[in-house]
Amino acid sequence: MAPAPTFPFTRADALFRLAQFVPLAGAAYAMGRNFDCGPGQHDRVSRLSAALRRRTISEGEVVQAVLAEHGPEPAASFISEVFWRTYWKGWLEQRPAIWTRYLAGRDAARQALLRDPDLAGRHGDAVAGHTGIDAFDHWMGELGETGYLHNWARMQVASIWIFTLGLPWELGAAHMLDRLRDGDPASNTLSWRWVAGLHTAGKAYLADGTRIAAMTEGRFAPQGLATQATIPVEAAAPPAAPWRTVTPPDPAVPALAWITPEDAGLEQEATFAALPLRGVVACRSHALNEADRAALADGLARAADRWQVPAQWIDSPTDLGEAAQAAGTRQIVTGYIPAGPLADALPTIRATLQASGLRLAEHLRHWDKTVWPHCRRGFFALKQEIPALLKQLA
Ligand SMILES: Cc1cc2nc3c(=O)[nH]c(=O)nc-3n(C[C@H](O)[C@H](O)[C@H](O)COP(=O)(O)OP(=O)(O)OC[C@H]3O[C@@H](n4cnc5c(N)ncnc54)[C@H](O)[C@@H]3O)c2cc1C
Repeated sequence: MAPAPTFPFTRADALFRLAQFVPLAGAAYAMGRNFDCGPGQHDRVSRLSAALRRRTISEGEVVQAVLAEHGPEPAASFISEVFWRTYWKGWLEQRPAIWTRYLAGRDAARQALLRDPDLAGRHGDAVAGHTGIDAFDHWMGELGETGYLHNWARMQVASIWIFTLGLPWELGAAHMLDRLRDGDPASNTLSWRWVAGLHTAGKAYLADGTRIAAMTEGRFAPQGLATQATIPVEAAAPPAAPWRTVTPPDPAVPALAWITPEDAGLEQEATFAALPLRGVVACRSHALNEADRAALADGLARAADRWQVPAQWIDSPTDLGEAAQAAGTRQIVTGYIPAGPLADALPTIRATLQASGLRLAEHLRHWDKTVWPHCRRGFFALKQEIPALLKQLA
């Protein structure tokens, strides 16, 4: 049998990796999860993020497998990390203006690079990993080569970027989002904001050279790191507001399933089991990297197999209408599209489909519907609810 890839992108590989990791997800994870042992050595963490991000494997499946092996107490640390993902998704969904604000800040910072040669030079050195800060330079190289960084390394990179190198956080967030194979608009943007001191007002994360040496088992000894965090200034975040209302799938109407990187696991959802599907499509324009390509191709193949319908790649969402008409359907069904580039394009996509008399239905998963109402304040408010939520989600 071929060895499992380091970072699983397909469902079969993700299930294999989950089975491999489950024995380590209890006390061993709680003790070892913050150590960054270097490329090829990230065995103390699951490395399931690229598959979870695309829902090739679900949060519920991962949590249930770990709970079944270890029970609630020993599994608490790992489960809490999975809930961080849901927390960021739910928080951003109820404050989508923070995503728009990030995009505006990123674009303004890119303009500043064109005007300011000193800023452009420091930014270029950071991106190329030529700052002279050993750990930072290594991590930028690892990110470029593997598309992955350990969570603790991501925190140090973001902190050094913002507070030691004095670079706009939005440029760092954009660079990471682009390079990560698990790049996720909510987890990435909000984690950068958390490090910068913009999520929990006034509380920033400051990287420390001695701690980096300890957590990398002596591989690095970075010098000259900032000893003070100057928190970027911005207006307070808006209050939480209800997430987008969506049209749910109509089980009486034949449908075309649309697999996106936001939910490539439609065939796992009970709602979809009952739908009269006539075909399944994915867009080439969403296959931005090897993880997207593999997850979309795998999602297409699984759905085609599950419903015994034709699978097809289309160029972009502009072709959805034609594909639906060719399949003889007036309904396109997909997973809920949360804040991010695809949601930004939704109004145009929906308007085009409506003009042809087609409806776009989105399915909000039970997991999200149950947990998101608890994602309006800080993470610790959600954390207290995890035991009760697990009972509801079981
Ligand atoms: C600056 C910064 C940027 C980040 N950008 C992303 C991103 O774009 N996409 C992304 O999925 N995660 C992001 N994270 C969160 C976290 O670093 C990764 O989810 C984690 O490192 C993935 O590795 P793993 O699957 O081995 O995690 P494990 O430790 O095995 O955790 C299991 C799962 O829980 C979730 N998870 C774990 N930690 C976090 C966390 N802190 N926040 C949110 N979810 C978490 C992930 O889905 C992960 O796969 C970022 C963190 C920081 C500090």
